[in-house]
Amino acid sequence: MIYDDTTNGVDNADIYPKLDGLINDIKRKFEINEELNFVIIDDYPSGPDLGVQRKYKFNYRSKKGSTLDNVLIITKGIFKIMNSDELEMLIAHEFSHIKNKDTTALNYIRKKYLSLIIIPPVLGIVLGAGVELVIKYNLLAASLIIISYFIIAALEGARAYNSKKRSIETRADEDALNVMLNPDALRNAIEKINDTKKLNPNKLIYLSWKIFYFFVGHTHPSPAERIINIEKWKEQNKPIKGT
Ligand SMILES: [Zn+2]
Repeated sequence: MIYDDTTNGVDNADIYPKLDGLINDIKRKFEINEELNFVIIDDYPSGPDLGVQRKYKFNYRSKKGSTLDNVLIITKGIFKIMNSDELEMLIAHEFSHIKNKDTTALNYIRKKYLSLIIIPPVLGIVLGAGVELVIKYNLLAASLIIISYFIIAALEGARAYNSKKRSIETRADEDALNVMLNPDALRNAIEKINDTKKLNPNKLIYLSWKIFYFFVGHTHPSPAERIINIEKWKEQNKPIKGT
């Protein structure tokens, strides 16, 4: 099912039949039988993008107020910048996430580290150790220990999460290549998304993310890394389409 959840609708009305055709074709190749939900939304401030979301709550047009599970989100700008081969490769990449239940695996890591961050300090306080430490000994030292624990646990959680996410992304690119056999289209699509992200005018947000990623690792392999993997794939396989 394709839903439109953009503020002003999608400009190009023939997107729907085209997208429907593409989806069915890729689903068949991936041997996915279950009904999938697609939601078209406005572009992000950082530009057009697409991805699988575990839960999606409608904002604007259809089904306002309701929530869907495991949806493929496409922002409307994607249809303006991608040709159908590129769109096909991007959707195939996302289908790999759906087929392998990646959102469930990532959610597990998120929960695991969240409990690691919360449970030990809570237990410590309940057992009185934390309180005793603060009262009897040094308030500043005790606070520093507790704060450091939170920071280290949070950073370690984000690092583990991003590391899993990077390996998942690499596998999803590989799946898309193995099923759709169109490396040049995937390469072009990655380059186009990266180009639009570079136009992001908010330097402060960009810089804060850069600092964050420096500590915990990036969520995705870099476009350069992904392109190297595509070129390696081309050397090892004989693509049907493309050159
Ligand atoms: Zn992905």
